[in-house]
Amino acid sequence: MTNITTQSGSPIGENEHSLTTGPDGVTALHDRVLVEKLAAFNRERVPERNPHAKGGGAFGEFEVTEDVSAYTRAAVFQPGAKSEVLQRNSSVAGEQGSPDTWRDVRGYALRFYTTEGNYDIVGNNTPVFFIRDGIKFPDFIHSQKRLGGSGLRDADMQWDFWTLSPESAHQVTYLMGDRGLSRSWRELNGYSSHTYQWINAEGGRYWVQYHFKSRQGVHNITAEEAEKIAGVDADYYRRDLHDAIERGDFPTWDVFVQIMPYEDAKTYRFNPFDITKVWPHADYPLVKVGHYTLNRNPVNFFAQIEQAAFSPSNLVPGIDISPDKMLMARVFSYPDAQRARIGTNYNQLPVNQPHAAEVHNYEHEGHMRYQFSDATARTYAPNSYDGLVADPVAAGEGGWETDGELVRAAQTLHSEDDDFGQAGTLYREVYDDGAKARLLETLVGQYSALTVDRIKERFIWYWTSVDSDLGAKITDALTTGAHTANAEAQPVSVGE
Ligand code: NDP
Repeated sequence: MTNITTQSGSPIGENEHSLTTGPDGVTALHDRVLVEKLAAFNRERVPERNPHAKGGGAFGEFEVTEDVSAYTRAAVFQPGAKSEVLQRNSSVAGEQGSPDTWRDVRGYALRFYTTEGNYDIVGNNTPVFFIRDGIKFPDFIHSQKRLGGSGLRDADMQWDFWTLSPESAHQVTYLMGDRGLSRSWRELNGYSSHTYQWINAEGGRYWVQYHFKSRQGVHNITAEEAEKIAGVDADYYRRDLHDAIERGDFPTWDVFVQIMPYEDAKTYRFNPFDITKVWPHADYPLVKVGHYTLNRNPVNFFAQIEQAAFSPSNLVPGIDISPDKMLMARVFSYPDAQRARIGTNYNQLPVNQPHAAEVHNYEHEGHMRYQFSDATARTYAPNSYDGLVADPVAAGEGGWETDGELVRAAQTLHSEDDDFGQAGTLYREVYDDGAKARLLETLVGQYSALTVDRIKERFIWYWTSVDSDLGAKITDALTTGAHTANAEAQPVSVGE
């Protein structure tokens, strides 16, 4: 038997009764056992992520099976390299307790614990995003969350934002399609969505986009199934991943990149730094890198998943960002969110420390500082004692040339850039007849939840712009009342 103790380690003599003046009297404020227990309980929760609050994850191993060393010097991607990984999947809009199967984009955060520090790719199960400038992100998320007054989610608010932000059309076409209702986190593909930069040993630069293809295949569920599961098991995805790993059914993803020579970006038909666009496979085919397998559940969900602090700013030598405006904003906002949510020294938590590299710098003190150097360590540089150096060769950073006035302006359009073209391609050339019919049904259901005329009008304009035939079909279904399903539609993520 082990004695229960206070936080300071002294034995506790009684854990079931408060200290009172006699069996029926008032409670003593100096009952330090009661006070400490309640105070600790009151502080158990940290603020949930805003967004991507509901999620789950697991650890595993990544192995490089091919040779991409011509494109990057990053140790993690050298032939034969193996790294520990951590993956967290999530929903975007719902809160911690929200049902996993609400229609939504699925977050796809992947950390490689490399010998050169932690490398995080924080993407989604879609290759594009709703907006292309980080300055719109708080507005976008507000529109998907809850109304200030009623505290309810609201279809008018969602479609108001989307239809006033037509760059969202590609992502919304994806979201309203079959992949908006994944069957599990194991059965979806992941994408960096952003363009990143790879730098090789000679300093040669390339633009890359990552693709993670599920060996379990991509499987989705119907709207009816999703709604039913949401009512029966809100933790459906979290349970599925946990149970699969417990029974030894380890999910695996193959890792690919699309690689664009540095100079191509200047003249490519789509602006390659616009996250609302893909690079068609025919232009830049997938190049295999390796695969990773998730094979270890967290021992403690809170410590290892809830406190896992992913960030696109976690980069390693040979990999850098690109001039994607969403990405540049995220490089600031993710670490800032973790500092606000978890605390100043969140990177010292075991899940966030580098596992295969060491940390050496002059940062010290701050809330919850846990790691400290020996008494002789310097806290300033330059100094004449410890020999720590900043080495640009070791850092292997990338970069790009830029010129011009400081402006607030949309990024430069390339020859085939518009808001609706790739959304139309997805609808016409990727969705089969069944997928098109299900999309139509979903959209008609969405329309029926709208209450404001000007938003309804823009809804029709938006989908007609994606594809004129689709727009006509929606109008026809609404005019003739041909639709029956989804008549009681709710905002996205609340049924259909
Ligand atoms: P391709 O025909 O080469 O690729 C189409 C891709 O679409 C497939 O490889 C698959 O990507 C994805 N896909 C298949 N079924 C669905 C579905 N039901 N919902 C969403 N995506 C699906 O054509 P392009 O590369 O020229 O792209 C055409 C369109 O495909 C794009 O406008 C984009 O909307 C979509 N797409 C393109 C991707 C890209 O990186 N080029 C990636 C994903 C979608 P995967 O194998 O990755 O699942």
